Amino acid sequence: AAMRHLPYFCRGEVVKGFGRGSKELGIPTANFSEQVVESFPSDISTGIYYGWACVGNGDVHKMVLSIGWNPFYKNIKKSVETHIIHTFKDDFYGEILSIVIIGYIRSEKNFSSSDALISAIQEDIEEAKRQLDLPEHLKLKEDNFFHLPEGKPVNH
Ligand code: ADP
Ligand code: MG
Repeated sequence: AAMRHLPYFCRGEVVKGFGRGSKELGIPTANFSEQVVESFPSDISTGIYYGWACVGNGDVHKMVLSIGWNPFYKNIKKSVETHIIHTFKDDFYGEILSIVIIGYIRSEKNFSSSDALISAIQEDIEEAKRQLDLPEHLKLKEDNFFHLPEGKPVNH
């Protein structure tokens, strides 16, 4: 039922996260502001998703995305964090991140160790790469949403 919101197009500024050390794990996640998160459908499931992402007017890359509970707000508000499957030379705080969320991978889990967490995320990344190579998903990479300055999602 939660899948009825997909594909979900979203654009917003990249803000400072909670310093959970994602970058130290080798998996930096670009966080959206609270306002952007509030604009999400309230019944969208927490968990891990895949899709496409683009920073500013840059190239469109594969991504994995986590919708989780925001520890800053005693876990009553959601957080939305995008890991772009690409190596960037510099951080891009303050830039506009455009994403389309396409599919669901799994629910949120707790891991017993950071190694277990890292290998789960590596598997999520591999699954995202495979899924996004499918013709029906590749199509969304070319969506006008990513190419026009004020691009609106077209009807699919
Ligand atoms: P924070 O807690 O501030 O979100 P992270 O450790 O999650 O810190 O790092 C996120 C930041 O790293 C992003 O806001 C972005 O500026 C930068 N970054 C660099 N490469 C990537 C990438 N491949 N995907 C996402 N963010 C990246
Ligand atoms: Mg982050």
